[in-house]
Amino acid sequence: MDYKALAERLLPGEYPALESYEAKYPPRDLPKGAQVTRLAPSPTGFIHLGNLFAAIANERIAHQSGGILYLRIEDTDLKRKVDGAVEAVKSALRYFDIKFDEGAEIDGDNTYAPWYQRQRAEIYRAFVKHLIEEGRAYPCFCTEEELTALREEQTAKKEITGYYGKYARCRNLSEEEIYQNLDAGKPFVIRLKSMGNPENKIKFRDAIKGEITVTENDQDVVILKSDGIPTYHFAHAIDDHFMRTTLVIRGEEWLASLPIHIELFDVLGFERPRYGHNCSLMKQDGETRRKLSKRKDPELSLEFYRKEGYYARAVKVYMLTLLNSNFEEWYLKNPEKPLEEFKFTAEKMSKSGTLFDIDKLNDISKNELSKLSAEEMLEFLKDWAEEFGSEAQKHSFDDRERMLKVLTLCMGIGGKKRRKDFTTASQAMEFIRYFFERPASYEEYRVDEATKQAILEGFLATYDPADDSQVWFAKIKEIAAGNGFAAEMKEYKTAPEAYKGSVADVAEVLRIATTGKANTPDLYSIQQILGEDETKARIGAQL
Ligand code: GLU
Repeated sequence: MDYKALAERLLPGEYPALESYEAKYPPRDLPKGAQVTRLAPSPTGFIHLGNLFAAIANERIAHQSGGILYLRIEDTDLKRKVDGAVEAVKSALRYFDIKFDEGAEIDGDNTYAPWYQRQRAEIYRAFVKHLIEEGRAYPCFCTEEELTALREEQTAKKEITGYYGKYARCRNLSEEEIYQNLDAGKPFVIRLKSMGNPENKIKFRDAIKGEITVTENDQDVVILKSDGIPTYHFAHAIDDHFMRTTLVIRGEEWLASLPIHIELFDVLGFERPRYGHNCSLMKQDGETRRKLSKRKDPELSLEFYRKEGYYARAVKVYMLTLLNSNFEEWYLKNPEKPLEEFKFTAEKMSKSGTLFDIDKLNDISKNELSKLSAEEMLEFLKDWAEEFGSEAQKHSFDDRERMLKVLTLCMGIGGKKRRKDFTTASQAMEFIRYFFERPASYEEYRVDEATKQAILEGFLATYDPADDSQVWFAKIKEIAAGNGFAAEMKEYKTAPEAYKGSVADVAEVLRIATTGKANTPDLYSIQQILGEDETKARIGAQL
């Protein structure tokens, strides 16, 4: 067969010499050991925890070694493309402080651009044409219906599905048949002519899983689709070579395609990057463990963490805990150090499914947030409120000093014990809501109506915002004593049956009337922040 003529017929026109690409995208001039890694999302608009997981690993390994992390957009599948997806990826990762050095819409070196696969059509075609000329790729005219029928036949026979061996019908078309099909205007794809034999096993060193054995590929996979756009398999091989990637950390769902990728790199004459396949994130669901699912688990989407207002460092700490088995111990010893100082290694990554537990993340979040100063907390909440908060929440930052007082009180700064009540920005804003809005609902008063009235009236009759906390409390004790409650806890404990309750129960009535809640930080301080008018108005409203 005249492969050269066939190649010209299938992909007509002059393409640059293959060597010219080697010259155009030269090996990178980086220090020895520097790793070039990448993130290569499809622009589907859905960016998830698995992406973040891989992003943190790739980012750490690149930057720790003095290398490069770049962003490539794998947009070969137009059906899945969503507008604004690239910005969504970038902003989601920016939140977690993942900084790209180069790539799509990144202000960096563009030697290895373009970064969108659709803009790289020429280079893919040049290499496909070359493979056809070499007799290592061929046109396939099978229709969707024929391929479906083939799959059904193989499934019925319990055979491996796909286009391979005796099933690769178009592989053996004669020159005449090929030209007849072309003359008839039949659409075609280009397939790799695999030389592999599934009887052969290859030993492969995975950067994460260590030594694994894979079966040689014998699938004649599609490398160029009928619209002239390559498949992921082919495009990523070309791109990782010409973007001079040294290490690919990607999800283990790609492990099954690894034999294809090995053959593609070999047939293209490229040195392979190292691959590390990171394990999937699992969730405990009753008795079973399953992969986190887009449909069932909102926490899979990175959008969820921003909307809820998770503190980025907390998510990162949890991700690192899951990613590297020695991180937790390091972090215990170095809680204040920048996370970048931890020495991350692919070898320490988990080899099998990792359990993601949102309760653990919440604990870490509480802990991380409890390390912030009031100023830092304010900035964190303000950033969140500006993007996701209600109007009232946005306005709660108008009086910065007041907000600092609220946070100092609620975080227990300066108190005996630092409080750990805040998990996320949205939850924290809800927690402090009563400082900015009147309660919309009230927890149940645990005294009868007449007693409640008497307590509230008693309070209003003697309330003076100029009182210090001792005087303020002494007045509450008086109200207690005057209404059948023990003014001292001690008294109450020795003879509980002699009282309606203790001063704590009286304070609770005032607390609910002021805030709507039975549990809050120090009530005196809350009323000081609310001020005289507001305190009186709230108590009065419950009369
Ligand atoms: N576009 C592929 C994905 O989104 C990239 C896989 C890889 O990192 O090579 O899953």
